[in-house]
Amino acid sequence: MEPIPSFSIDHLRLKAGLYVSCKYDIGAETLTVFDLRLKRPYQEEVMTTGSMHALEHICESFLRNDPLWKDRIVSFNPMGSRTGFYLIVVGDVNTDIILPLIERTFDYASDYEGDIPGATPTECGYCVDMDLDEAKNDAALYYNLLIEGKKENFNYPKPRKSKKSDDKK
Ligand SMILES: [Zn+2]
Repeated sequence: MEPIPSFSIDHLRLKAGLYVSCKYDIGAETLTVFDLRLKRPYQEEVMTTGSMHALEHICESFLRNDPLWKDRIVSFNPMGSRTGFYLIVVGDVNTDIILPLIERTFDYASDYEGDIPGATPTECGYCVDMDLDEAKNDAALYYNLLIEGKKENFNYPKPRKSKKSDDKK
């Protein structure tokens, strides 16, 4: 099988940040996949499942109600590594264009009060595993990172040199 694009990123050199993971042309549309990397791999603790689950519900609800972007949101999903989320939007979009939306989303999540959207047994498969305090903390840390972000927080590290380039060509 061909490796998927995200496997080609050197996660040992990857910082927390906001990145274009890849773009797919599907029919006449381009879809852009963003890597919202909240935690630096192998340097910071990964998020708890309760934090990620609460953020998934809060952020996806916010994104799908944002007046500017709601019609272009395809999905917002947790990474299995628990270091971040993927956001897929319709269109050929770059980080500087999406950044205000991501800032709004995590600013909102960092101050969230009240019932978490969809957190009932009829609406969700495991609603008991949500931790709003952790979620707000993770959201605030990420919001601050985006506000103060440097170039390295918006551009993937340069690809590592492949040891077996050309041997399949
Ligand atoms: Zn859920």
